[in-house]
Amino acid sequence: MGYSFPDGTNISPELERHIRQLHAVVGNAVTEGRFIVFGAGSTQLLNAAVHALSRGGGGVAAGVVATAPFYPIYELQTEYFASVDFQYQGDTSLWIAGGTIIEFVTSPNNPDGKLNEAVLKGPNFKAIYDRAYYWPHFTPIPAADDGELKIFTLSKLTGHAGSRFGWAIVKDEDVYNKMLMHMQLNTMGVSRDTQLRALKLLKTIMAEGGGRTIFDFGYQTMKSRWEKLRKVVSVSKRFSLQDVSSHYCVFSGRVRESSPAYGWLKCEREEESDCYGVLKAAGIIGRGGSVFYATDRNVRLSLIKTRDDFDLLVDKLQKLVSAEQDEE
Ligand code: PMP
Repeated sequence: MGYSFPDGTNISPELERHIRQLHAVVGNAVTEGRFIVFGAGSTQLLNAAVHALSRGGGGVAAGVVATAPFYPIYELQTEYFASVDFQYQGDTSLWIAGGTIIEFVTSPNNPDGKLNEAVLKGPNFKAIYDRAYYWPHFTPIPAADDGELKIFTLSKLTGHAGSRFGWAIVKDEDVYNKMLMHMQLNTMGVSRDTQLRALKLLKTIMAEGGGRTIFDFGYQTMKSRWEKLRKVVSVSKRFSLQDVSSHYCVFSGRVRESSPAYGWLKCEREEESDCYGVLKAAGIIGRGGSVFYATDRNVRLSLIKTRDDFDLLVDKLQKLVSAEQDEE
């Protein structure tokens, strides 16, 4: 097996075609006239995008920002891959004028599932839309993302996180070429074995109900989990969950509520500011809010683990809530 495909690139044209087809079925991203770059998961593409958008700043480092609560890798990567071209500046509200500002926008957001939009708009502001969760399993799809740079991943589409495959959809050719160069110098492109695996998965998706079946299944599964979790928490005064919004969904052709990948649970009692600790003592391991640059009064609970894991979570939460009612 050589490095490249017959056309000399290391991006499988067949896989690229299937990705475009899938987006056309779902209606979550405009791909016409756009370039596609592959990465080892979206993780590799996030930094490739920062690199590409910050190049050529004439000696002024681009600032990188995100709005809390946000997925921590944006900061960790930006700091770790420190460069003269870019610098992490903190929360979006802390942006410093001068040069380019790159804003990470996670939509739906990890951890709270909100359909975020870029806060900063204007010629010097560039947004990287992380669309890991922009699939009908987790959210209504109000419109196809028509933006400059959006990143998707197999990890939250089929659950094959360990296969390490993601893709970026890029409008600007210069940005695309810089991202390609970044991938070339990093790893000489994504493993062809991985690409073959991803192609097989997408072909399987497309063969079932014209590509719709997986989303009907994913939505039903996530909706039922979200409703179970919400029902348990609804009778509690000690805990609360985030509100979720409803939108018209172009995929399902009706108004739908979000069915998020994570519960963003809050401890309401004044003295329980360490919500992570409260849950841990009850045998529930979430991720403390401070991981996402919020406070530990919130904890992220995953709804995308195995069914057994999810059932255990609901069971343990139910015990906590029942104990609270016994106290009353
Ligand atoms: N972005 C977000 C918002 C995520 O939640 C995750 C995974 N938890 C990633 C990116 C990384 O995914 P990948 O496996 O594609 O690298």
